[in-house]
Amino acid sequence: MSQELQDNIDAIREQAKSQGLLLIISGPSGVGKTTITTQVVKKLEAAFSVSMTTRPMTHEDVDGRDYHFVSEEQFRQAVASGDLLEWAEVFGNLYGTPRGAVVKQLNEGKIVILEIDVEGAILVKQNMPEAFALFVLPPSEEELLGRLRKRQRESEEIILRRFAKSKAEIERAKASSVYDCFLTNDILEHTIQEAVRVVESERMRRVIAE
Ligand code: 5GP
Repeated sequence: MSQELQDNIDAIREQAKSQGLLLIISGPSGVGKTTITTQVVKKLEAAFSVSMTTRPMTHEDVDGRDYHFVSEEQFRQAVASGDLLEWAEVFGNLYGTPRGAVVKQLNEGKIVILEIDVEGAILVKQNMPEAFALFVLPPSEEELLGRLRKRQRESEEIILRRFAKSKAEIERAKASSVYDCFLTNDILEHTIQEAVRVVESERMRRVIAE
C-alpha cells in the first residue's frame, strides 16, 4: 500500500472516531440488549443516555446509572417543559429520553446510545433521521421465553405478558422500517463484536460520504 493511501485511511479513521453518532438499540425484553448495550458503551467509549422512568426500582437498579427514577408528576412536568426527546408508555410505566444530555454529548463528538423501545425509536428517527438504529433479535421464540423465565425477576403472569409484547415488538420493528440493522443474539460475545463493527463501519461510511 502506498504511504499516501495509508495516510488517507488513517485520516478517515481518526475523523470517524470523533464524529458524533446517535445510536438506538432496541430489542424485546430478555433478548440481552442491556448486556450488549453495556459492552458496546465500554468498547466504543460511548455515552449511555440515562432515561427517566416512573417504573419502580428493582434490586438490580441504580438510580442515575440505569434510570433516573421519578414520580409521575415529575415525568409529566419534564414532558410539558419539552425536556424529553421522546417518551413512551411501556408495561404501564412511562419512559423518556432527556434531550439536553443527548444533544450536548453529540456536539462533543461522542456516540450516544439510547436503549429504547420501537415506539421511541420511531419518534427519535422522525426528529433526528441521522440516528442509526439497531434491533436485537432472539435466536428463537423458545430461547426468548427461556431467557425471560431465567431472569426470575417477575411473576409468570408478567413473564407471559412480556413474551407476548416481545413478539409484537419484533413484528412492529420489522414493519416500521426504522431499523438500519438487525442482529441475532445467539452467542453474546459475537453479537457484541458485530454491534461494534457495524457502528464503526457506519461512522466510517459517514466520513467518506461527507
Ligand atoms: P425495563 O423496565 O425492562 O428496563 O425497560 C422496559 C422497556 O422500556 C425496554 O424495551 C426499554 O428499551 C424501554 N425503554 C427504556 N428507556 C426508554 C426510553 O427512554 N424511551 C423509550 N421509548 N423506551 C425506553
